[in-house]
Amino acid sequence: TLHLNQVTKNFGDLEVLSSIELKIEKGEFAAIVGPSGCGKSTALRMFAGLETATTGRVLADGAVITKPDPRRVLIFQEHALYPWRTVEANVGFGLELAGVSKKERKPRVDEVLEKVGLSGFQRYYPHQLSGGMKQRVSIARALVMNPDVLLLDEPYGALDAITRLTMQNELIKLWRGTGKTVLLITHDIDEAVYLADTIHVMSPRPGRIVETVQAGMARPRNRNGNEFVALRQ
Ligand code: ATP
Ligand code: MG
Repeated sequence: TLHLNQVTKNFGDLEVLSSIELKIEKGEFAAIVGPSGCGKSTALRMFAGLETATTGRVLADGAVITKPDPRRVLIFQEHALYPWRTVEANVGFGLELAGVSKKERKPRVDEVLEKVGLSGFQRYYPHQLSGGMKQRVSIARALVMNPDVLLLDEPYGALDAITRLTMQNELIKLWRGTGKTVLLITHDIDEAVYLADTIHVMSPRPGRIVETVQAGMARPRNRNGNEFVALRQ
């Protein structure tokens, strides 16, 4: 469970988040929507351990989050791939840092690249890939660490409508049945309704949660529905 417990965040005199109370249960797919500048990314960065609360507590499973943790990974729009590293080396970077040997990394990298539909692109460099492919590499790089929580900050904002739908469906497939928690920030209400179980709507700055909506009804739950979604690609 991720929890912002009465969290207020100030940057100097600027109050960005105001007494936020927000809970995301384990295994849930939640979305945050709200106007630009209301503090969505700030809230997400807190769960990633990249930002601290001015007052209140940021908790994961009841423990205060104090620093980044490989169990909770942040994926953002700008990809942040290393241009001088191949796809394989980008995806394997976290494992490399964790001291996993090259021989052990290889099969794990290959497996996640297959999951995101990039088998055979191991030796490519980021500049040789499309935007959607780079986004897949970012997702593969996160998945290879086998995190419990995926924090996604407008991951599909820069993609065209068709690629976005494909990637959304892939995200559902990757998440379904894994018990992983996903928290997605998006400007696109349709995207939130399509993907998330729960949508938290924020007010303009200083951000508060003004409404929490149970969604997920637009997304088919059973296998036949799943195939229908696949057909929409
Ligand atoms: P958008 O939808 O445009 O991405 P957002 O809801 O994600 O917006 P944040 O990025 O969380 O908004 O920013 C909220 C406010 O906090 C903005 O006014 C921003 O300028 C300010 N802010 C964010 N990070 C910092 C920082 N490190 N130092 C000072 N101000 C900051
Ligand atoms: Mg943002």
